[in-house]
Amino acid sequence: MLYEEDWGDNEHVMTHVRAVPEVAEGSPDSEPQGADGVAAALAFRASGRTQRPLAGRAGASRLSVLALDGERLGPYVKNALVLVVVLVPFLATAFAVVQLWERAVNWRDLALLFGLYVPISLGVTAGFHRMLTHRSFRAHPVARGVILALGSMAVEGAAIGWAANHLKHHALADKEGDPHSPVDGLFHAHLGWLFDPTRADPAIYCRHLLKDPVVRFVDRTFSLWVVLSLVIPFALGGWTGLLWGGLVRMFFVHHITWSVNSVCHTFGKRAFETPDRSRNQWMVGLLGMGEGWHNNHHAFPRSAVHGLDRWQLDVSAWVIACLERVGLARDVQRIAPEVLARKRLG
Ligand SMILES: [Zn+2]
Ligand SMILES: [Zn+2]
Repeated sequence: MLYEEDWGDNEHVMTHVRAVPEVAEGSPDSEPQGADGVAAALAFRASGRTQRPLAGRAGASRLSVLALDGERLGPYVKNALVLVVVLVPFLATAFAVVQLWERAVNWRDLALLFGLYVPISLGVTAGFHRMLTHRSFRAHPVARGVILALGSMAVEGAAIGWAANHLKHHALADKEGDPHSPVDGLFHAHLGWLFDPTRADPAIYCRHLLKDPVVRFVDRTFSLWVVLSLVIPFALGGWTGLLWGGLVRMFFVHHITWSVNSVCHTFGKRAFETPDRSRNQWMVGLLGMGEGWHNNHHAFPRSAVHGLDRWQLDVSAWVIACLERVGLARDVQRIAPEVLARKRLG
């Protein structure tokens, strides 16, 4: 059958993911801790709290100067920080464009930046995240390969490792073992975690993906897609095309993806009760193709739609609906309104 990915049934995965904390604890995938980290973790467990104390592991103490605990900040400071984290890189780029106009950037460069940003972002959001990691829909193998190749061009790591890491995040969100929780500091959640050498083991978190030939192919040829993501803008726009369509585009895709991990677990509103700190943040929703409705996503991880209210813009969900309409996607997961209503806060 055209759509059969041989990923097994979903219940197996969800059960497996729920069982992961126990599985991972004594496995090679568990993160190394010093004596302080172990003591802190034990004290934390004894306290019965649901979240880890700050500086609960070795990496956190190194970055403690930069730890901004959103819970302790007032609403105005929070909003100001959101603006800084999400808007400043964009404003700085706009300023750079004005400064460099006709010297190092032109309309073609900006067209390359936007024209590559959109499909590559969607490769991460609709492809890596919703299709591959959460099985929110099934795609025709050719579509699956193209979407995953686009996601690889974001240069956020190969597909299977990305999925394993993200499943680990969902299994342990804002608790011991979460790869990128702001409990360890906003900087750690944003990009500091990238310097942590431990990674989620695909054999534990997404064994099913290792059996899919399309996924494995795109995963194994990751460096090819990375090179292509730079060669294409260079071929179309020369050196300035490489700068704007390649490197500046990469900068934006990176920071917006990382903002889902940092901003959307620190700032914004909670619409649903979840056992983590996930939040809906409209600016990341807007710039991140719908990924900023992150509390919605943690409440309903399999849903292909993250913008669950009519006003919550979700470009990835639109693209998935278009793929479904033309026959390239099926089994699109949507949550019934009565189920949403039952889980809604307040
Ligand atoms: Zn999250
Ligand atoms: Zn997710």
